[in-house]
Amino acid sequence: SRRMKNKATKGETSSRGMRVASLQTLPSPQLEKNFAEIAPPLTGDAALLEANKCLMCYDAPCTIACPTHIDVPAFIKKIASGNMRGSARVILAANPMGHSCARACPVEVLCEGSCVHNDRDEEPIKIALLQRHATDWALEHHYQPFKAGKANGKSVAIVGAGPAGLSCARDLRRFGFEVTIYDDREQPGGLNTYGIAEYKMRQPLALAEVMMVLDLGAALKPGVRVGEHVTMDKLKKDHDAVFVAIGLGATRTLGIPGEDKAGVTDALSFIEHLKSHPHNETPVGRRVVVVGAGNTAIDAATQAKRLGAEHVTIVYRRGPEDASAYDYEMELARKDGCEFRFL
Ligand code: SF4
Repeated sequence: SRRMKNKATKGETSSRGMRVASLQTLPSPQLEKNFAEIAPPLTGDAALLEANKCLMCYDAPCTIACPTHIDVPAFIKKIASGNMRGSARVILAANPMGHSCARACPVEVLCEGSCVHNDRDEEPIKIALLQRHATDWALEHHYQPFKAGKANGKSVAIVGAGPAGLSCARDLRRFGFEVTIYDDREQPGGLNTYGIAEYKMRQPLALAEVMMVLDLGAALKPGVRVGEHVTMDKLKKDHDAVFVAIGLGATRTLGIPGEDKAGVTDALSFIEHLKSHPHNETPVGRRVVVVGAGNTAIDAATQAKRLGAEHVTIVYRRGPEDASAYDYEMELARKDGCEFRFL
């Protein structure tokens, strides 16, 4: 019943160099629906109800499981008592990227996966949604829990305005360091701005989170590639320290013939194009094959399907038990109608 408009422009090259053999587009209302958030926010009442289910465990396993060790029972208790400022502060003190982590963290295998309610065959506390509730409140109310520390006369260059660089910048500013962040892209935020599946998090949220760091007085130099526009030696000369936070870089290639042909692209470029253009401007093939079964592969597959690809097949050289994608991500791909071909 879905009528897809097939532009069928063989070998077309997009403005960002993404080539596809034939293009698919869905009507805009359908695209909006397909890319709506998969985890909508809690209402105020639902958040209160959920917060009051938390047992406020001593030595809380959810906090131990969190890589940034957010004091989960503490921030949940503050939501339960209506102290939204306090709740946001607890989260952001431990994790400067608390907004995006509420949307993008694999909580099923971290905090929520460790919640004691699982041991009683009950649903775990919706920690991510509660964290989102508190951090959304902070953004809506322009609440900045921290201020810059007294200037200590030292300066630090940070290479990369992604989550690591921004987190470093936030805390250095709190300690009174002068901070300059260099990033080669037009927009800051790194993976949060360009690499997280559209139905999990959109660019405005990533950029709002960046602003919370810049508000503390960190300077941003976008469009500057270190090694090309400025040398590392110059950074070392101009600053007391340099923090390199450049992320994982480009996707690895397969090293097989045909990778340079029209219609072949890497997952991160595909996702980046989707996140930085209106949805109907990202080309997708009618029949898509995704090679590999990691979480980024799943993001590429589900988004290709949501863009209108008729068939999406994920091919993986090993079995499902070896796939590095989380089970719930693979389940999401299955629910979206993607096919897996193992071995
Ligand atoms: Fe609350 Fe579950 Fe954490 Fe215990 S483990 S503090 S119930 S969220």
